[in-house]
Amino acid sequence: MIMISPNIYKEILKEYEELSDNAKKKLEIKKELCYKKCPRIREIDNELNMTGIKISKAIIYANKEDKNKYIEDIKNLTEKLKKEKEILMTENGFSKYYFDEVYNCNKCKDTGFVNNEKCDCFKQKMINKAYDMSNISEIIKTENFSKFSLDYYSKQKDPKNHMSPYENMKLIMRKCSLFIEEFDEKFKNMVFSGDTGLGKTFLCRCIAKELLDRGKTVLYVTAFNLFNMFEKEKFNKDNEEVDREILNLTKNADLLIIDDLGTEFITSLSTAEFFDIINSRILAKKSTIISTNLGTDELMTQYSGRIVSRLYGEYDMLKFFGDDIRLTKKFKN
Ligand SMILES: [Zn+2]
Repeated sequence: MIMISPNIYKEILKEYEELSDNAKKKLEIKKELCYKKCPRIREIDNELNMTGIKISKAIIYANKEDKNKYIEDIKNLTEKLKKEKEILMTENGFSKYYFDEVYNCNKCKDTGFVNNEKCDCFKQKMINKAYDMSNISEIIKTENFSKFSLDYYSKQKDPKNHMSPYENMKLIMRKCSLFIEEFDEKFKNMVFSGDTGLGKTFLCRCIAKELLDRGKTVLYVTAFNLFNMFEKEKFNKDNEEVDREILNLTKNADLLIIDDLGTEFITSLSTAEFFDIINSRILAKKSTIISTNLGTDELMTQYSGRIVSRLYGEYDMLKFFGDDIRLTKKFKN
């Protein structure tokens, strides 16, 4: 589902340039408005802007005994000024956040970076860009839990599985909503296995949407594209930076969803990379959801023993069964 253009990274950097330029302009306008109403605030701001210089002067020029006293004095004055400013702002009808409101993200002040590390908003931008190209943001708008209906699943008991597809789906839905509710407290992984047309991909997208709405970083990728990326990373130099970023995300995103495992081209290089992702996420206690049409035996034959043993050891295996609901839908409508 995810497609990456070599320009994503550059595009995002440019967006941040524009965002912070805009924020600066807005800030200037807001400052003028505020200063006009209360000139004392301008004096305070000018004074506060000097704090850094004052401290460095004190460090350079004062002798050892005086130094701490000077710095202490500067800090006290700064506190006093900040308090005075806060009071003046309120008195003049400006909210405490009046100046902060110019930023989309207060963490990085629209620069995209906090202490030289990418801000969370930067990471999410990368994911969203990739999503936009694949239209997943559109898909997510229409495919979400409110659209999920159990009505399409038969209530007739399936002898092989000892329950009806309906009961089974009800259980799966419960597990999925628990997965979302307890996302921050409990480290859980799931494998959705079963034939096509039983709602696996739909459920993956519903979960993605719920967690995106809660501010989590979610990377949704088809196995086909993920394994493609492994190859590209090795062989395509133009795309290197972006691929590396997305591949970093496969390890760092709060949730990784790999859809349609079993449809990709497997090489020894890609299985090694795949194992690396699965394993590092387990070690870092970051949740992963995998959907696959493959049954247990097929998983065993297609993937190395160490991958399969991680899946069976660390993942909740949820089996989907029943009739293709896309067909049922057709007959009912
Ligand atoms: Zn940010």
